[in-house]
Amino acid sequence: MTLENHITKCPYCGGSLTVKYIDDQRRLVCAKCGKILYMNPVPVVAAVVIRKNRILLAKRKNLPNIGDWNLPAGFLELNEQPEEGALRELKEETGLRGENPILCCAVTQKSRRYGSVVVLGFIIPRIEGTIIPGDDASDAKFFDLNSIPYIPFSSHREIIKRAIYFMR
Ligand SMILES: [Zn+2]
Repeated sequence: MTLENHITKCPYCGGSLTVKYIDDQRRLVCAKCGKILYMNPVPVVAAVVIRKNRILLAKRKNLPNIGDWNLPAGFLELNEQPEEGALRELKEETGLRGENPILCCAVTQKSRRYGSVVVLGFIIPRIEGTIIPGDDASDAKFFDLNSIPYIPFSSHREIIKRAIYFMR
């Protein structure tokens, strides 16, 4: 993606933006106030629930990739601890209450909309409750690890791979 397509004016002063190479990175710089618009990955939290060789996935209700399956996941909120975010997303999308999330890995993925996202994968060792799909999910269920459906996000696929390895 090109940054210029998304941001055309300086958010601080409204000045026009130019591209400069700073720290070996392509950066947008305001021609008027001189501020550099740093673009950083957006944090996403994902919940990995594996039980008896089966993994919990949620069916996407919204764009992109409506109808595809993925890990219960979403953007970390401002001032939210990543662990809390992972449990919140699990609850919102599957109805299940989780406990004691363990950070398994963090994977960066390119994003057309955000430049890139960094997905923090949390293994959720304890869950309670009944599956009730909600929020961004139209369905949620466990799949055998040997027959995982198509997952559109490389970060989620990588997290699942590493989580399985992590839990061995
Ligand atoms: Zn400016």
